[in-house]
Amino acid sequence: MIVQNNHSVRSQRELNAVKAMIRLYCKTLHRGAIICPECESLIEYVEERVSGCRLGEDKPSCSHCIGHCYQSAKRLQMIHVLRWTFPRYLWRHPIRALQFKLDNLHSAQMSAGKAEIFTKTG
Ligand SMILES: [Zn+2]
Repeated sequence: MIVQNNHSVRSQRELNAVKAMIRLYCKTLHRGAIICPECESLIEYVEERVSGCRLGEDKPSCSHCIGHCYQSAKRLQMIHVLRWTFPRYLWRHPIRALQFKLDNLHSAQMSAGKAEIFTKTG
């Protein structure tokens, strides 16, 4: 993916953090030498959702997006993985984890304003 501006830098950063957390989750709980097919498919799913996001450049963090494009099963799986992994990720990569949190907070503040876009575009 070619990173062109601040928004896509943020999306890319979110994606990288999420992927790192899924890998950490898998390594710790599923204990394989390589990532298991289930976690691999979750990563692929997230990549696909982020790159196909209809909010494009204005995309907030997925957890604060009002467009919720994840299938509910995947969304629950994602929430579960991130809740479990975040404290561990914070311990290993404090800067990256805090950046991820900050991006989330920023998105939470923005998401109120974005509701308008959705009513316009359907
Ligand atoms: Zn796994």
